[in-house]
Amino acid sequence: MREKFLQFSPPSIGDGERSEVLDTLMSDWITTGPKTRLFEGNLKAYLGAPDLAAFNSCTAGLHVGLAVLGVGPGDEVIVPSLTFCATANVVEHVGARPVLVDVDPATLTLDPQATARALTSRTKAIMPVHYAGHPAQLDPLFDLAGKHGLHILEDAAHALPARYKGRLVGSRGNLASFSFYATKNLTTAEGGALTGDPELLAKARIIGHHGMDKEAWKRFDRSGSWYYEVLLPGFKYNMTDLQAAIGLHQLVRLEAFQARRRQVVDRYNARFALLPELQIPVEDPDVESSLHLYVLRLRPERLTLGRNEFIEALKARQIGTSVHYLPVHMQPFYRDKYGYRPEDCPVSADAFSRMLSLPLHPGLTDADVDDVCTAMEELVAAHRA
Ligand SMILES: *Cc1c(COP(=O)(O)O)cnc(C)c1O
Repeated sequence: MREKFLQFSPPSIGDGERSEVLDTLMSDWITTGPKTRLFEGNLKAYLGAPDLAAFNSCTAGLHVGLAVLGVGPGDEVIVPSLTFCATANVVEHVGARPVLVDVDPATLTLDPQATARALTSRTKAIMPVHYAGHPAQLDPLFDLAGKHGLHILEDAAHALPARYKGRLVGSRGNLASFSFYATKNLTTAEGGALTGDPELLAKARIIGHHGMDKEAWKRFDRSGSWYYEVLLPGFKYNMTDLQAAIGLHQLVRLEAFQARRRQVVDRYNARFALLPELQIPVEDPDVESSLHLYVLRLRPERLTLGRNEFIEALKARQIGTSVHYLPVHMQPFYRDKYGYRPEDCPVSADAFSRMLSLPLHPGLTDADVDDVCTAMEELVAAHRA
């Protein structure tokens, strides 16, 4: 058995990140400034995005995104049930109603047919989530949006870098919000970025910075001015140069991170495909997943051990795992406020009941991956139905 606990998703921080943070601390500028602007420019160029604004989280980017689209009280927004709570929470923040819709059983991304059925005269926007890094079915969703005059705001928290039909998520021109939280493919500890049309992003920058007019962040710098005007009551969502310092070096390493993620996933898939008790994740032929999470589903009819027991047994073998996610329609707030029952989104509820996420990060060694595979194989062999 392993001596050291295998953490589910620790960050990969290198010397470049460390010295850039130190350099920032030694400078006279530690909050939003030149490094944030450089990180924004580099990430925009990498993605081929029309425009990009960094924020202090993906949640902030989603909130600001809904605000610039004018989503508010009386409006409905389509959100997949199988996502992190933030996707739905931001809809509540602007006073609109999140309409929770089920996911496709293969990819666990928003089901376009279920989305079509959930549209009403109040629907204003659709928020696809690129679950686990697998792009949602963007073309059918854009067709629906075009036909009904709806906005698309992508929750791209998992999707750096992911491609849909050859094109990087975030380059399409509609709004998409990325996360640089500690567990994500690229981290700034906490952070996010919104991509999209330059006119919308100009508004997003103002809303995300107290509603102060353009470039007000420079007001304490020689090149800036003390004078600013408040155009609306905005939010305090700016990224700091300390965060951007980490991101600058993470971005340089991103391709190498992805190559390692691909090797780990291939290794997991090769071993687990041999076990009919396990359902391995799929990747559609017309997409390239960012491989953010490795989500296995158990086949409970073939096993005598439940998902929660698998997690405990793996923990006892020094292996950290997680579950993504308890569906939003089953979270007490949403369940009670809107009267959802688990069977309202049956695919999400079923997937949740039998899923677990295995360690997936660039720091995994082949021996680590083999430890996880062997532990799973032994547990399956000991608990066949
Ligand atoms: C991580 C995550 C978020 C929130 O990202 P933050 O940067 O922590 O705000 C939103 N949606 C999904 C699907 C996520 O996984």
